[in-house]
Amino acid sequence: MKVLITGGAGFIGHNLAFRMKANGYTVSVVDYKRPPSFRETCADEENYTCDLRLFSNAINAVHDAEIIFHLAADMGGMGFIGSKHSEIMLNNMLINRNIALALNKCKKVKKFFFSSSACVYPERLQDEHVEETPLLSEEMAWKGKPDTAYGVEKLAAEELFERSCGPFTKLSIARFHNIYGIGSIWQGGREKAPAALCRKVAVAKLTGKDEVVIWGDGQQVRSYCHISDCINMILDLVNDTEKHGPINIGSDEAVTINELVDMIERAAGTHVRRIYVPGPRGVAKRNADLTKIREISPMEHIPLIDGIADLYDWVESQVIHSMENDVEYWY
Ligand code: NAD
Repeated sequence: MKVLITGGAGFIGHNLAFRMKANGYTVSVVDYKRPPSFRETCADEENYTCDLRLFSNAINAVHDAEIIFHLAADMGGMGFIGSKHSEIMLNNMLINRNIALALNKCKKVKKFFFSSSACVYPERLQDEHVEETPLLSEEMAWKGKPDTAYGVEKLAAEELFERSCGPFTKLSIARFHNIYGIGSIWQGGREKAPAALCRKVAVAKLTGKDEVVIWGDGQQVRSYCHISDCINMILDLVNDTEKHGPINIGSDEAVTINELVDMIERAAGTHVRRIYVPGPRGVAKRNADLTKIREISPMEHIPLIDGIADLYDWVESQVIHSMENDVEYWY
């Protein structure tokens, strides 16, 4: 079995390489530094001295590996990781991105190991207010687990930009909650619930099929924010003289998916039969706390019923245009 150790010239990596070789494996290491231990551990194997922030290097290293120990990372003690935040995030995101892409492309890999860190545990469980030193159990890392990988990536990016803006750059971060309106994607697979349901109702109405498919039981709770309210809040946030942490931008007018369909039916002047099917329905309930953004942007919001009526008219016109021009569209 061919073993690849990324970060194999590092502390853990070169010790691991040494052991794997002693155990009879064919070991390659990839690392961008070349300390003396590099040659000692893997002198008779293929070694790559290169930068894994470049994809071509990652694919070259990974292409024939069957077991991968992925240890390469820009890291150090607290003096380093406590000060070089954006540098570390950028470098490690690039390295991990390239290794993940290479992993996807190389079908030979049977085992993959990734070295994470005790640094994943929440700071608040470990600060001076905690009475007893906590025993950190694995599930504690995800006390506030985002609902999707997309959410995890956004949190990482918030942190990255927080650490990347210098003292003369005012950073604003908005956490959008379901923005909808004319011009949003309405078909093709990336559309969100308001436009997707408008399309389904429009197709049902125009074809006389009279039914729409809904993912889940329609009881999922969401709030939807009109695009013009969203733009107003963005500009108020960006123009505010204060520096803020991440802020919710959205609406707190919560409705179920069934109530959203009621509104769309009203806009369409039709009734549809609802067919509930298992599907990617998302979390059960979500609404936005807008306390912070209201202090900065205290305007009235467009009621959902009015915004949905405008969206429906626009989506229906898109569906009619597609039908008249024989353009393929989704049911
Ligand atoms: P290390 O710094 O000795 O090894 C990491 C190696 O990655 C280094 O040799 C470095 O040159 C290499 N590297 C960094 N950027 C690279 C790039 N762009 N291209 C190629 N190689 C690159 O660290 P270590 O202590 O051996 O840690 C190994 C892994 O374990 C790391 O992923 C680290 O985050 C993780 N980890 C270690 C500890 C620990 O106590 N040592 C704690 C938590 C997590």
